[in-house]
Amino acid sequence: MILGIDIGGTTSKLGLVRDGSVIARARISTTGHADDHAFADSLAEEAKRLAVGLGQDMLSVAIGAPNANQLTGIIEMAPNLPWKHDVPLARMMSDRLGVPATLGNDANAAALGEWRYGAGQGIDDLLVVTLGTGVGSGFIVNGRLVLGSAGNAGELGHTILIPGGRDCSCGRKGCLEAYVSIRGMIATYREAVCGEQQAASAPSDVKRIAERARDGDAAAIECFTRTTQWLPIGLANAVCATGPKRIVIFGGIARNGELLMIPCASASMQRCSISIKAVLI
Ligand SMILES: [Zn+2]
Repeated sequence: MILGIDIGGTTSKLGLVRDGSVIARARISTTGHADDHAFADSLAEEAKRLAVGLGQDMLSVAIGAPNANQLTGIIEMAPNLPWKHDVPLARMMSDRLGVPATLGNDANAAALGEWRYGAGQGIDDLLVVTLGTGVGSGFIVNGRLVLGSAGNAGELGHTILIPGGRDCSCGRKGCLEAYVSIRGMIATYREAVCGEQQAASAPSDVKRIAERARDGDAAAIECFTRTTQWLPIGLANAVCATGPKRIVIFGGIARNGELLMIPCASASMQRCSISIKAVLI
């Protein structure tokens, strides 16, 4: 029995996993703790509470987190987490639970999960992309997760789509993430709207933009049109670099099948011959 932990900006999820199936789960708030040590204490307490009564030993802990470095086991100054310093969470959880702990980038963890148990099962050249507040990605190449020399490789979201374009959360300009994430699509909608008055009433989430597109709102339709042009460029660049056999895309934005995923799959197929399988999670 393995403990899996997903560290999110507002909520962190725990799951006890056996043979690839979650047999017990819980969640705690990521914010509201005095410091990272108090947060780790809460995680450990919740994990022990979950394990009670299952009659099995917890063998190890696997943690996915933003800005996590698998080579060091450290969360490195994640802008979306409460702690503005390096957090050696793998060692902190190992100390508290008395079992080995591994920490990895959350998108890499998602890629490993899809590869072993999900939509990329058995496919040794795989790209997994998460479309959410940001754009995360994990590359499996020749049957191995790509980490790179410093442990931070495979960041498709921070490849440049438009030189000198929009500001990105990483400090550079024109990254793919600045265009095809939730934040990026809202910015696209605002750009597509004619007149300042309408821009002020722009939706604050992609779900509402999708509703407006289905109602015939021109700016919302234009927002999806541009996104379905941009995302396949990023995917095709990734295909040129590592030659995945399949791309798995998930996240809230990917729920828009007819507006986004079907046109993107079609455009990507034209750019490169690959099967794109959208997984809606
Ligand atoms: Zn960036």
